[in-house]
Amino acid sequence: MTDLKEKQAITRNKEKTKKRKGKLRENIESIAIAVAIAFAIRYFVVEAFKIPTGSMATTLLGEHKNVHCPNCDWFFYADRQSDDALCPNCQFKINLSDFCDACGNRIRHNWPAWLWRKGHCPRCQTAVAWSDLSNRLIHGGNRIVVNKFWYKFKDPQRWDVMVFIYPLYDLTCKNCSAQFPDTEWRDGFRCHRCGSTKFSKKKKNYIKRLVGLPGEKLQIVNGDIYINDKIQRKPDSVQKTLWMPVYNSNYLAKKTDTPVWVTNGNAWKIHDTSITLDTLSQEDSDTSLVTFGRSVSDQNGYNSHSGHNEMGDVKISFDVTLLKGSQSLTLVLEKNNDIFTALIPADSIDGKTRLLKNGMSVLEKDFRLQTSQQHKIEFSNADRMVCLSINGNKVFSFDDDDGVIPDLRSSDTSKIRFGGTRVHATFGNINIFHDIYYTSLSAGSWGTTKPVQLGEKDYFMLGDNSRNSNDSRVWKFVPEKNIVGKAFFVFWPPNTMKFIK
Ligand SMILES: [Zn+2]
Ligand SMILES: [Zn+2]
Ligand SMILES: [Zn+2]
Repeated sequence: MTDLKEKQAITRNKEKTKKRKGKLRENIESIAIAVAIAFAIRYFVVEAFKIPTGSMATTLLGEHKNVHCPNCDWFFYADRQSDDALCPNCQFKINLSDFCDACGNRIRHNWPAWLWRKGHCPRCQTAVAWSDLSNRLIHGGNRIVVNKFWYKFKDPQRWDVMVFIYPLYDLTCKNCSAQFPDTEWRDGFRCHRCGSTKFSKKKKNYIKRLVGLPGEKLQIVNGDIYINDKIQRKPDSVQKTLWMPVYNSNYLAKKTDTPVWVTNGNAWKIHDTSITLDTLSQEDSDTSLVTFGRSVSDQNGYNSHSGHNEMGDVKISFDVTLLKGSQSLTLVLEKNNDIFTALIPADSIDGKTRLLKNGMSVLEKDFRLQTSQQHKIEFSNADRMVCLSINGNKVFSFDDDDGVIPDLRSSDTSKIRFGGTRVHATFGNINIFHDIYYTSLSAGSWGTTKPVQLGEKDYFMLGDNSRNSNDSRVWKFVPEKNIVGKAFFVFWPPNTMKFIK
């Protein structure tokens, strides 16, 4: 009897051990599966990357400085290597150096800087206030998620932001260790020193915007992209990303050398953050315009030491309220020798919204502005397309492409004016932007002086920070096999979280 009981007990114990072993195995298996899935996701689906440089700024930030202008309170980003930067809004020069102004020694601060909020020079003891120190600190690059699955289903589209393997490799000869940095890899490449064909290749990931697709003839002309001799315009979401801020009337400069607004006559009143035009009460029937007093340049905190150009593709937006009895608003954008004038009648008169090119009417729309109400007006000229939007709705787009590639210019010019006829109008929240301008580089001019033909598996990539980008202009095309995936989301730092357009 006892024997039997013991036997049963032993069997039960054995079963328990078996069960435990089974559970352990199950756990190990599920962990292994989880790890395998994680690797599979990383390998095939999504992967996180960190942006090192400013070549895609300001769409994507590399290591950078967060700059608050002490003259106008405008916030902008600057490259980590910038020792100073001009405020885009008020042209004030801001010191961003890591070194002491008085003696040149490196400035010190306790970590984390945002907690201690001050710094000092260890040599001459000069104190650095937080408002100054915070402009000089270096922050890490954006961290993004890249979708590697996307291009398994969809062909790459022009203007996609894409991660790819840099087409030039750092090669090391496996036989004699000779090094060949930034080398175009092709079969049969031989070591210059020992003749070996065996190399170890170091891959580098790059991120740029796709502008040229396989088989296309591409040329960069006066900052714009031409494919097979036709100008390429950006979809609205991409254009929105690539409008670079130039001026915002809500950020009033304490000191300025040049007046922001140039007026004629006494019908204009310039207030701190708005402007009023009144020719209505004076019964003055001349059209009166105010002119933006500065030239619009592509210089920003991310490229301040690589020169600048005056911009021709610009946009102005403002909020405006017309008093009852007002007749019409006028907006003027000049680019080089062309003058585009939008005339918008108020609802109190009979008339149509018109666009004039060099004084000739080219377009008419049935649209009038309601008086005594605030409207948001946007008027732009980019990539040879002139657009007027009111309260977010497109009133007209005028295609100014005549099908002829324009002559190459060293730079464009622009003038921005607005005003009206027999009008009482208050303009506020005035913003000016310029479009992205693809430059030529001293380091590389492929595609900028004459058209280039892309092969059947070649892609042409450009950085958004065109003055400071090592891209297809320098190393030509990216072969299809080098494509890694589509950059689609910024997740770090949290205040810059966004979908990448
Ligand atoms: Zn400023
Ligand atoms: Zn010092
Ligand atoms: Zn060798």
